[in-house]
Amino acid sequence: MRVSIDSDVCIGSGMCALTAPSVFTQDDDGFGTVRPGRADGGGDPLVKEAVRSCPVQAVTVAED
Ligand code: SF4
Repeated sequence: MRVSIDSDVCIGSGMCALTAPSVFTQDDDGFGTVRPGRADGGGDPLVKEAVRSCPVQAVTVAED
């Protein structure tokens, strides 16, 4: 699994970080980012929930 956020699309709602905080956080400007070393999703089942929670579909998950 490879998790990414399209920073051109993210509006900084924070839903990803609220939904799966082990994988996502927010940068100083409030935009969503994938935590360092967590681009593989860390086995967290909440990642797919975070994909659904993003209001602008900025979070994507590619299966290996
Ligand atoms: S849920 Fe989507 S819009 Fe909100 S911070 Fe995360 S990536 Fe950005």
